[in-house]
Amino acid sequence: MSVATSVCAPLPVLGGDVIVPLADGREVPYAALDYAASAPALQRVWDDVAAYAPYYGSVHRGAGYLSQLSTELFEKARRTVAGFLGCREDDQVVFTRSTTDSLNLLAAALPEGCQVFVFETEHHAALLPWRHARVSCLPAPRGPREAVALLERALADRDPHGPALVCVTGASNVTGELWPVAELAAAAHAHGARIVLDAAQLAPHHPVSVRDLDVDWVAFSGHKLYAPFGSGVLAGRADWLRDAEPYLAGGGASRSVVRRPDGGVEVAWHEGAARHEAGSPNVIGAHAIASACQALTEAGFENLVARERHLIDRVRAGLADVPGVRFLSLFGADAPRVGVLSFVVDGWDSADFATALSTGYGIGVRAGLFCAHPLVRTLLGGDPAAEGDCETPGDLNAVRVSFGAGTPDEHVDRFVRAVRELVATPCGQRTADGRRVPATAG
Ligand code: PMP
Repeated sequence: MSVATSVCAPLPVLGGDVIVPLADGREVPYAALDYAASAPALQRVWDDVAAYAPYYGSVHRGAGYLSQLSTELFEKARRTVAGFLGCREDDQVVFTRSTTDSLNLLAAALPEGCQVFVFETEHHAALLPWRHARVSCLPAPRGPREAVALLERALADRDPHGPALVCVTGASNVTGELWPVAELAAAAHAHGARIVLDAAQLAPHHPVSVRDLDVDWVAFSGHKLYAPFGSGVLAGRADWLRDAEPYLAGGGASRSVVRRPDGGVEVAWHEGAARHEAGSPNVIGAHAIASACQALTEAGFENLVARERHLIDRVRAGLADVPGVRFLSLFGADAPRVGVLSFVVDGWDSADFATALSTGYGIGVRAGLFCAHPLVRTLLGGDPAAEGDCETPGDLNAVRVSFGAGTPDEHVDRFVRAVRELVATPCGQRTADGRRVPATAG
């Protein structure tokens, strides 16, 4: 294969030496190629978490030394994340559980009468939280320019006096394609709307700057950013968050609580990030995210992007001449993208194909509609409005391979070899429980 190899080494991640069984009884090292679902922990993150663990203590709730230390670590993590995201001076960083949680938090903080604009191509986490607002769902654009034009048109028709929010992904979890975030932000602001960036798939692969992109909020998940310890982030403008009811009611969010003479309870809520962080904060999760932010920054996104480009090219070049393998794309084969590629294979059900990659080669990928049903249906030529089930195999589903900073060349090379072999033996064979495996697996 004639692909340039002058790229940085993969970052050390956990799980690189895990051995898994194959259907034929052999054992091989696991090839984790499902980063878009959840990425392995960076070794650096694991080490930082392990180094802190003995000092673990409650956050914002204790006079003891370890509580003080843990509180300082938690607040330091907030500052690190703010730096990583290029936040503005008065932006707020709220620790949540995930991107889903972050976007639901923002949805609960929308001002009265807010209109929300989303493309049908969004992940369900970005498509669905706005169900209590007026939602305009825009059709799938066939290029970045069309995306901006569609949004401009929709915003021009809206009530210019009411509040409005645009929610858009930075990188698709299905095609990996990059969306024109800065241009969409400019369009939103030109029409008096705000914009939240779903950076779940973007932040692990590309630098994200709230300031440079001029987005109002950004959301991402720790577990896709090599920090799988149960935390996520919503960062951005403080005003809507300050004016909203607390996302969760409870300790930590409340400044003062008194029993009223009439038997009711009166609460004064915090105004800062704590307002939406009720309950005991996940200090390990926040520390892990901060550690990942530092590790990625130190590795240099220019190096990580170049390495990922190299891996994408390796997959593309390795499968270019294989008939029957069709990659899914909204913006065209050459559109800039992150290391997330979905495809279908003639003659194969995608779920069977993903299973064959696992049982025959020790490769972990995902098959399905990737919680982006309208988008996958559109890409597969189906009806985006059709009913279906997220995980149920059927004619309309695809295989997704995804990788990132910890992926060695060997994993994508094994994937390419596996696809070539499986395509060459489309009949495969069925195991006793009905699964299809490569013909070579005994
Ligand atoms: N947005 C995108 C683009 C995603 O890929 C995902 C996860 N697949 C989410 C949002 C939701 O992330 P989480 O499951 O961590 O809440």
